[in-house]
Amino acid sequence: MIVFLKPETPRDSPEVERVLAVARKIEGVTARLHVVEGATRSLIEIYLIGRTAGIPTEIFDELDCVERVIRISEKYRIIGRHKGQVEAAGFVYEGLVFDQESLHVFPGLCAVDTAANVDLMFEAIARAGLTTGRMGAYKPRTSPYDFQGLGRTCLPWVFESAGRHGIRVVAMEVTHESHIEEINQALDEAGSPTGVLLQIGTRNAQNFELLKLVGQQQRFPVLFKRGMGITLEESLNACEYVASEGNSRIVLALRGMKTNLGDPHRNFVDVAHVPVVKRLTRLPVCIDPSHSVGRRDLAPDGLTDIHHVTAQGIVAGANMVLVDFHPDPAHALCDGPQALTLDELPHFLADVALARRCYEERRALAAGVCPRSA
Ligand code: PEP
Ligand code: MN
Repeated sequence: MIVFLKPETPRDSPEVERVLAVARKIEGVTARLHVVEGATRSLIEIYLIGRTAGIPTEIFDELDCVERVIRISEKYRIIGRHKGQVEAAGFVYEGLVFDQESLHVFPGLCAVDTAANVDLMFEAIARAGLTTGRMGAYKPRTSPYDFQGLGRTCLPWVFESAGRHGIRVVAMEVTHESHIEEINQALDEAGSPTGVLLQIGTRNAQNFELLKLVGQQQRFPVLFKRGMGITLEESLNACEYVASEGNSRIVLALRGMKTNLGDPHRNFVDVAHVPVVKRLTRLPVCIDPSHSVGRRDLAPDGLTDIHHVTAQGIVAGANMVLVDFHPDPAHALCDGPQALTLDELPHFLADVALARRCYEERRALAAGVCPRSA
């Protein structure tokens, strides 16, 4: 059961205390308070977990600050989009809105290699008018003999360069608790010149202890990449782990599924799931054309498969694009074959903008033909 409070209710108010007091009196039920920071307002939602079937909704309905009460049977209590819940809340981070309406492109290095390349990358991003990018410092590699990432040593200059180029959010994977601590420390020491979107990679999609840790901290939002060999339901449950620990600022990334049936792409491209995730959850949805496709092959029409998959995801309503670029892909230490070059960034973004206009027109067309019931 979820009790939604009226938008203007302050978190530390006697009204909120009253709702919690009513909840506490019910045997076998625990109440958890969640603050959803939306683009224009923050909402308080109180989740009642346990034996809620026999609770009459009136005991909450009659309280002044309660907007509405809904019963939920679905598994995704926090991230799910429930009946009667029209808002897909999203969140604001470093001044940027991340929700099911917005679109952000995060181009960047799969793996940080040199300070010069980081600087060139951020400079190209800034020149293209973006304030978001990706930088992999901690790399989970299939082979123990492959480059494992520079780890904490690169953090000071990555953050300094991001700040100097006006980059507001950097997506960066973490695979261990110590990485979160190192990022916290390095950001503090650098004077917090940028923000970080903590990436949980596909290989850690069911690392429940890591999921709980990123859920327990409040400083950084989370970019969760779907598990490459598990069901969508299992990936959504993993996001629910993060949210149930207290951090519901999550973006879900579709990055392709491991199966040889997707050959010759590196993974089976799953952009068809963009609208599915938006329907089942309130999370913004990211696509990762680089890790889905895995190579920069050109189709006869002059566009790479990476461009095609990006456009397909955006036309389907994606809210974020995580994409590998590198100043010199032939010498990249990780995933060079799928990286686009810096001089290709303006065209890539123009193609993104075109696909986005197409999505907006498709929505307008759908609204005209078949108005959605509010
Ligand atoms: C990455 O984005 O660098 C990465 C390793 O992605 P994934 O976890 O999807 O393989
Ligand atoms: Mn990679």
